Amino acid sequence: MDLGLAGRKAFVAAASKGLGLACAKALAGEGARVFVVSRDARAIEAAAKEVGAAGWKAADVSKAGEPEAAIEAAVAALGGLDILVVNAGGPPAGTFQTTELPAWDAAYQLTLMSAVRLVRAALPHLKESDQGRIVFITSVSVRQPIPNLVLSNSIRGGVTGLSKTLALELGPDGITANCIAPGTILTDRIRDLHAGGGSLEESLRKSAAAIPVRRIGTPQEFGALCAFLCSQHAGYITGQTIGIDGGALVGVH
Ligand code: NAP
Repeated sequence: MDLGLAGRKAFVAAASKGLGLACAKALAGEGARVFVVSRDARAIEAAAKEVGAAGWKAADVSKAGEPEAAIEAAVAALGGLDILVVNAGGPPAGTFQTTELPAWDAAYQLTLMSAVRLVRAALPHLKESDQGRIVFITSVSVRQPIPNLVLSNSIRGGVTGLSKTLALELGPDGITANCIAPGTILTDRIRDLHAGGGSLEESLRKSAAAIPVRRIGTPQEFGALCAFLCSQHAGYITGQTIGIDGGALVGVH
């Protein structure tokens, strides 16, 4: 199937590794021209090389002004924008009772306001595209809270509401907005969350055994879904949260 992504101009946030990198690779593999961003200049430069990206910039998407500057650099490098993949590092783990107030403010900036800032900056350019696409990377936690991740459980719901609102507002402009909600996809975030106490392999094995398909997902599988949602075939899919979790979510929606 030709996804129709050749020459499309894509911005992928938080893309030096993990899910963002997987999206960047999948889009570039389909011929899109990709601009990648993360905080660590060395890491994002190396990722850009690996992807064959058209450009990169070091930026912290949780800090006012940096998402905007990154979008500006991408538009200058690409000559416009068709695709925005919104992503950031995950907020720290913790229960409600162990999480202090400053961590709530930081998670709000990292998870919700980074998305708001990226979309605000990208929107005038996406409106000029004949096939605008916005994909937010969220989590299965928007549907089923994950123990010890109160910040993700609480704040990612705001991104889901934002995405649905954008789908309603921007549909007439031909722009789609969707969320991808990963369950457990093997990245450093998952390795870190499973690293506390005991062996990492054992913890991952137990986690896989509880998933209906009996394995942890791969970043490649995640990237392929992102590329499809950005493709010419996905113009009638908007306002959705698409789970990719091996069937782990227990619920009918
Ligand atoms: P990861 O492997 O830890 O990668 C995180 C990426 O984000 C890195 O490229 C990092 O690069 C970048 N980054 C972190 N903070 C940033 C910031 N403030 N500004 C710009 N870039 C930033 O994580 P992942 O597994 O790919 O997860 C991506 C998102 O999906 C996270 O929010 C995570 O919580 C969520 N998620 C993942 C899973 C999963 O199964 N993997 C499941 C549910 C939800 P730098 O260090 O260079 O900035």
